[in-house]
Amino acid sequence: KVGMNVQDLAKLLHRDASEIIKKLFLLGIVTNQNQSLDEDTIEILAADYGIDAKQKEEEDLADIDRFFDDETVNEDALEPRAPVVTIMGHVDHGKTTLLDYLRKTNVTEGEAGGITQHIGAYQARLDGRLITFLDTPGHAAFSEMRARGANVTDITVLVVAADDGVQPQTIEAINHAKAAGTPVIVAVNKIDKEGANPDQVMNQLMAYDLVPEEYGGSTIFVKISAKQGQNIDQLLEMILLEADVLELKADPTQPGRGSVIEARLDKGRGPVSTVLVQQGTLHIGDPVVVGNTYGRIRTMQNEKGEDLKEAKPATPVQITGLNAVPSAGDRFVVMADEKSARAAGEEREKRAREEVRNAGSVVTLDTLFNTM
Ligand code: GDP
Ligand code: MG
Repeated sequence: KVGMNVQDLAKLLHRDASEIIKKLFLLGIVTNQNQSLDEDTIEILAADYGIDAKQKEEEDLADIDRFFDDETVNEDALEPRAPVVTIMGHVDHGKTTLLDYLRKTNVTEGEAGGITQHIGAYQARLDGRLITFLDTPGHAAFSEMRARGANVTDITVLVVAADDGVQPQTIEAINHAKAAGTPVIVAVNKIDKEGANPDQVMNQLMAYDLVPEEYGGSTIFVKISAKQGQNIDQLLEMILLEADVLELKADPTQPGRGSVIEARLDKGRGPVSTVLVQQGTLHIGDPVVVGNTYGRIRTMQNEKGEDLKEAKPATPVQITGLNAVPSAGDRFVVMADEKSARAAGEEREKRAREEVRNAGSVVTLDTLFNTM
């Protein structure tokens, strides 16, 4: 850093200034405590102490994307994880009905008084294997999350009503899935209805590169009735099959990181957020940065309202303990300690505020056109 003197450097290196002066003397540089040092001298000295000064300088706590994107996973520690599924499709084609059916039948099965809460995501189970469903159908939520850098979905289930066929939002959903690079499983819904024509849906979708296996393609189609629960197990089976192809794995031994699914302010509990753990394990008490907020995980619950001590990859959990309400799609990372979590969160909050201020004062063609 420019302008750093011997005393500053001594503090940074946790050494006595006299030791630094002595060391510099041996290197042929004569200084006193208050003399400022040039960059090269600092680097030589730091290297002598086994520190890469450049790297230290670049270490930016507020840059949580750097922590998040850190791909240094321990290959030996990788474990299979549940697939994360988003359900999309045209309005009234049965997304909510399907999500509700899955929640009721697969989550609360065999559990006394199992009332599931809407926390934005839940896990369904088939043959002892879990599938994580994001409970926020709607393309806006999907693209909003992606715009914030959160890529949470592994598989898209495209719901198309067999009595209505491909519609504008069906095509929109296909484009979203393509942009996100997720495989699509087509759930041809409402096959119980009179006038249902699943074959027509299959024919229509071929124009969008969704070709069923019987026509030489590789897209999985499942004919279902979300209302009557017909072939839902088959749909889950196909999701697990697709998950096997994707070989989804994560390293649970790392500090937890993931994305915010939804968040709100609760009168009694303060900021309440549902987060999806994507890598590592999240524990009670972990210091975290979440978007531009920070805190320590105070409580952690699953969709059944059960208290959890830890959450492994692909697990959605509702957490409390943050200083403010983050946004859907925000990323979170567990930090080394509460102090650095706070420092990073506050710095990010400050930057976000500055960004808003700057955006407000700068007139660009875009802002000009938008105000016209
Ligand atoms: P969304 O807009 O995609 O969430 O659609 P909904 O789940 O709200 O469903 C729209 C309407 O279709 C509701 O009246 C549902 O009861 C009905 N519906 C959904 N799935 C089926 C089905 O498999 N069969 C029949 N007959 N009706 C269905
Ligand atoms: Mg709906």
